[in-house]
Amino acid sequence: MKPGALSEKILGGIFREAEKIGKEVKFMDVCGTHEDTINRGGIRSLLPDNVKVFAGPGCPVCITPVEDIVRMMEIAKQKDMVITTFGDMYRIPTPAGSFADFKAQGYDVRVVYSIFDSYKLALKTDRLVVHFSPGFETTTAPAAGMLAEAEREKIENFKIYSVHRLTPPAVEFLLKAGTKFDGLITPGHVSAIIGVRGWESLTSQYRVPQVISGFEPLDMLASIYMLLKMLNEGRVEIENEYTRVVRYEGNESAQAAINEFFEVRDAKWRALGTIPESGLFLKKEYEHLEIRNEVDAEVPDMPDLERGCRCGEVLRGLILPDKCPLFGRVCTPRTPVGPCMVSYEGTCNIFYKYSGLR
Ligand code: SF4
Repeated sequence: MKPGALSEKILGGIFREAEKIGKEVKFMDVCGTHEDTINRGGIRSLLPDNVKVFAGPGCPVCITPVEDIVRMMEIAKQKDMVITTFGDMYRIPTPAGSFADFKAQGYDVRVVYSIFDSYKLALKTDRLVVHFSPGFETTTAPAAGMLAEAEREKIENFKIYSVHRLTPPAVEFLLKAGTKFDGLITPGHVSAIIGVRGWESLTSQYRVPQVISGFEPLDMLASIYMLLKMLNEGRVEIENEYTRVVRYEGNESAQAAINEFFEVRDAKWRALGTIPESGLFLKKEYEHLEIRNEVDAEVPDMPDLERGCRCGEVLRGLILPDKCPLFGRVCTPRTPVGPCMVSYEGTCNIFYKYSGLR
């Protein structure tokens, strides 16, 4: 069947199931790449009026605490080093400026595509190289791999500042905080690491139907159809639409690598607060790989967001970016007010990209 015919068939199914439900339903995605697919494919505009899709905290850069970014910069004032980080993290605004501003003051901050680039840099220099390392499970796995390599090769001038976070606790946090949704479009790449089983407790404890979804518009439509069908049939289960990648047990080698280096602790999320057991920190036996254990800096609490920025509500799935009065007027990717407009995984940035405003 041609893709156009297939999408029409799935859409027909969505409309039939939505009519059967006969009330408004709200689904949540928690993945910047899913949100990009939804916007790129114009999927919201194709759906029946009673089917809404909101975005949750799907951008690891957006939720990285301001204090951690500022602490990294303070640490670099005390000891000569090269800081590496990703391009979107480089531009994230804080009350003390961004990494880009810090570089403009003369400090050595470099943008890398992956932690591997940072590691390669450490091999070429005698200077200390510190990777400011954000990301969910998908990014933590390569970070663990690189740390293993550094350990094996006894590379002493390579360290990280871990701001890695876990996604299932964030969804649990939203549910406990009262964000209502009828089903979760579960991120495919995180699930490739943690497997279907990594999400099971959410469904059993909180009665949330889930569909693990791939990243093409057809995947998204199929996942929405599967969620609607589950609701109509009164089933509360996890279904796996992304069977071409995701297995029940996930990637056990990646899980083992993460568990070797990291332990789970409570952690702050920008604009959301502290989420229990949601942060990944280096274990005691690997503390020499974490820069904070060598040099630390006191950083006062700072406001997470500029006045008027509604990024917190966007991250909680309470509003879509076009409800923020600053969206596209004051706040654009060139003049971002909040973190959700900076990162290419941020919901505001994605909305802007496909809004026709640029
Ligand atoms: S559009 Fe800008 S100001 Fe508004 S919520 Fe998004 S990041 Fe914040």
